[in-house]
Parts: sequence; structure tokens; C-alpha cells
Amino acid sequence: MSVIDEVLEANEIYARTHELRALTPRPQRKLAVLTCMDTRLSKRTLGLQDGDAHIIRNAGGIVTDDAVRSLIVSHYLLGTEEFMIINHTDCGLMHATEQDLRTRIQNRAGTAAVAPAFFYAFQNIDENVRHQLQKLHSHPWIPKEVAVRGFFYDDSSGHLREIKDF
Ligand SMILES: [Zn+2]
Repeated sequence: MSVIDEVLEANEIYARTHELRALTPRPQRKLAVLTCMDTRLSKRTLGLQDGDAHIIRNAGGIVTDDAVRSLIVSHYLLGTEEFMIINHTDCGLMHATEQDLRTRIQNRAGTAAVAPAFFYAFQNIDENVRHQLQKLHSHPWIPKEVAVRGFFYDDSSGHLREIKDF
């Protein structure tokens, strides 16, 4: 059985009670978190319950065009008032340069490709978080009233550390 088939079985069981039925689309704690897809960082890591926050994930926890789109929808349409950006230790995007990644994937796939234009590989977490903060702080559609804060998550200790944008 594939994992997807296992998920479908589990969903059949979940749907019998559908405990999250009462939640609304608006995050109860008015928070949006942009972070990496890494499995070691979860709602539990942040003390969040289902329904508390938007969790927007991509490889690296990068402020891409699409992440900005989600954050703008999160604020303007669904009422979030605080944004949290989290990058973490031992991220897959820290193990190679942009060019290495492209070459490696191109060699395996056997062909070049136009997209993605960037993988957003990085070496320094603090610096990378600062870049993401700068992208949001300078965006004309992200109001100054929205608190935007950046963090470093240590996968081995489980701790978050704040990174300031200056
Ligand atoms: Zn990662």
C-alpha cells in the first residue's frame, strides 16, 4: 500500500467525527507563520493549535512571490495581524549553492528547465532571515501595523531565537 492510500484510509476514520468542523477560515490568534517545509518544525513546536494560525510553508521559509501573495491574503482577507518568519538549522537549502543545485538536478533529470528560476539556496541563517524580513518590511502592501518578526529555529535544541532586521 502506498502512503497516499494509507492517508485515504486515515481520512475515512477522521471524517467520522470531523472534529475541526467548527473552525472558521480566520485564524483565531491572528498569526501567520512562514517557515520551511521541514518536518521537525510543527504547530506543536510553536504551541499552536489547529485554527490558531496560517502556516505557509516552502523549501527554506523564503519570502517568494507566492509566499507574499499568501501573506497578503492572510492579512487583508482573513485578518492576521502578526507575521513570523522562521528559518532553521540543517536546512536542505544550506547544503549546496544555487548553481550546484541546478547542475545536480539537471544531471539527474537529464534536461535543463526554465523554472524554478531560483532555489534560494543560502549559507547563513541569520543573514537569510534578515533578507526575508527586508523583503516584507519594504513591501508597499504590508502595512506598518502588521508586526513582522524573524526567527532562527535550532532543530537540535528545539529553541527559537529572534533575529532583528538591522
Ligand atoms: Zn529547511
